[in-house]
Amino acid sequence: MVQSALRTLLRCPPARPRLCVYRAQSRSGRAGHCHPWRRAFSDSSESATATTSRGSQGTGAEGTEHFLGGVFVGTGAVLTVLYYSGGLSALEPNPKQPEDAGRDIGSTSTSTSPLESVSAPQYDLSESNILGAQQEFVGILSADGVDDTLSARIARSSTDWSPAPRGELDRPCLIVYPQTTDDVSRIVQVCHRRRLPIIAFGGGTSLEATLAAIHGEVCIDFRRMNRVLEVHERDLDVTVQPGVSYLELNELLARHGLFFPPDPGPGAQIGGMIAQGCSGTSAYRHGTVKDWVLGLTVVLADGTVIKTRRRPKKSSAGYDLTRLFVGSEGTLGLVTEATLKLTSKPDNVRVAVVSFPTVQHAVDAAVQMVQKSLPLGALELLDGPSMRAINRSGYCHKDFDEAPALFLKFEGSDAVVAEQVDVVRAIARDADCRSFQFGKDQEESDALWQARKTMLWSLMTLKRDPDDKFLGTDLAVPISRLAQVVEVTNRKLAESGLVGACCGHVGDGNVHAAIFYNPAEKEKAEKLVLEVEQFGIQADGTITGEHGIGLEKRDRLIDELGVDAVDTMRRLKVGLDPLGLLNPEKVVRLSPASRG
Ligand SMILES: Cc1cc2nc3c(=O)[nH]c(=O)nc-3n(C[C@H](O)[C@H](O)[C@H](O)COP(=O)(O)OP(=O)(O)OC[C@H]3O[C@@H](n4cnc5c(N)ncnc54)[C@H](O)[C@@H]3O)c2cc1C
Repeated sequence: MVQSALRTLLRCPPARPRLCVYRAQSRSGRAGHCHPWRRAFSDSSESATATTSRGSQGTGAEGTEHFLGGVFVGTGAVLTVLYYSGGLSALEPNPKQPEDAGRDIGSTSTSTSPLESVSAPQYDLSESNILGAQQEFVGILSADGVDDTLSARIARSSTDWSPAPRGELDRPCLIVYPQTTDDVSRIVQVCHRRRLPIIAFGGGTSLEATLAAIHGEVCIDFRRMNRVLEVHERDLDVTVQPGVSYLELNELLARHGLFFPPDPGPGAQIGGMIAQGCSGTSAYRHGTVKDWVLGLTVVLADGTVIKTRRRPKKSSAGYDLTRLFVGSEGTLGLVTEATLKLTSKPDNVRVAVVSFPTVQHAVDAAVQMVQKSLPLGALELLDGPSMRAINRSGYCHKDFDEAPALFLKFEGSDAVVAEQVDVVRAIARDADCRSFQFGKDQEESDALWQARKTMLWSLMTLKRDPDDKFLGTDLAVPISRLAQVVEVTNRKLAESGLVGACCGHVGDGNVHAAIFYNPAEKEKAEKLVLEVEQFGIQADGTITGEHGIGLEKRDRLIDELGVDAVDTMRRLKVGLDPLGLLNPEKVVRLSPASRG
């Protein structure tokens, strides 16, 4: 998937799609337990079957309203949260509730779910249960919709840019390839009944080990849900399945003169982008993905299907469920359709690469551009090692000065671009810039920009050994603190003696350190990340501007937001996913002993 994105980016023909063949070979499954997480859910397969037939009958609000057989009149998924979390039963006791319904894994009267109040989820990952599930999945998807090949399973969990904690040992037990919302709902119902945890998989470009299959989860790979369902040209919106890549979407939209701005790693797909709350280089001008999602179709942890919102640009109808799922890293529900806002395709995009004697000179210039509110299309920083890696990688056909540089995008009429370029040149001159490369036409500009978009892969060439691991920071701070944060990051990187580079979406105050380490240097690398993040928090910033929390940053979320805020997130998690099935242990811990 990443390779195909690179091909799109580098304009190479796509490879033939690989057929995934089901083989009932034995696997080294880990023995699991069969205990339900809580008694309220020790339902027989009969009641689970009842859920199955309900879940496959309809979509949207209808499915939600029939949830739990009319135990309460449905008013949407938020009530479902309250119901599971015990909040609803406290507010409105319902004599018709089954004896155990509404019992919580924690206290029923508190607003938050502290970790100690939550019982660790119990899964059944026994060989026989997985084999049984595999047969049911084949019944739903046919044989080529289920894959148990070892290499494919490993690749869904651990990547060069985001290794799983135990590397190849953390891998899904099975991969399934649904094509419709109904397929996803039925797969999830099987997992719910069999107590099998689940991880969604999109383009596989995410960081922070959010894809790591630490329990041997079932992987739902959305690559076959890659259809653009409706383009509403006059309304400036589009409805897509989650497996659509944003690069391909923009190729299609360009024919209509339209554009979807968020641009994370090449290869990313809409479902993964929404799940990560991503942004990218265009966020300085256009905002992050949350600003571009109008509504979602979501499969919840028991297979219920909901629609979060209709298509108008504004709505104040109830709680904002759409935003709840954006950035939830597949822990609250699975996105199976998304309606996205569009804008008109920018005209006349031009790119400049401006190099400076030091990173601080580059940052000072960037801060001035932000403070002048220049409406640039993008404002990016790459340090000297980043530029060296780009030259070395061969992903880009241009040669660059191996000095700290700002990559800038200009959009608009010739006059608008010329005016902005003049202002930028003046600021750059005042900051002692060394060179100013300007893409005079679209082709040259695209060639310069390619260097920026393939930078993370270029950075991989900094590894001294192929087995070196990657660790990154993703601080975002108020712009007035940017120079300080970049200075501290660079200083600590230099002091550590580790190989690394510093870059970022400086227009948004978002800075990344990319660090490579061997096993002996692991502690040093983690200490460096921790110190930089602590500094970012002190600067009133966040430890993650765009990459998400995953496993890597999970425990540091408390440093940033406090225990009570994290306990509130856990409350939402156990409310929507009481068995802890969806991407378990990511974003918030469900058990103190979990790895990662
Ligand atoms: C070279 C490179 C550059 C990058 N640059 C940026 C950048 O500039 N800005 C930025 O924000 N990020 C960047 N990233 C990170 C990455 O591209 C983003 O996090 C992206 O949003 C991930 O999308 P994906 O489709 O690859 O998701 P995946 O990696 O497949 O999955 C990400 C998460 O989403 C969940 N998920 C996937 N599909 C669904 C679904 N349908 N429903 C619910 N959950 C789902 C997964 O379980 C996982 O937790 C970069 C990565 C690389 C490799």
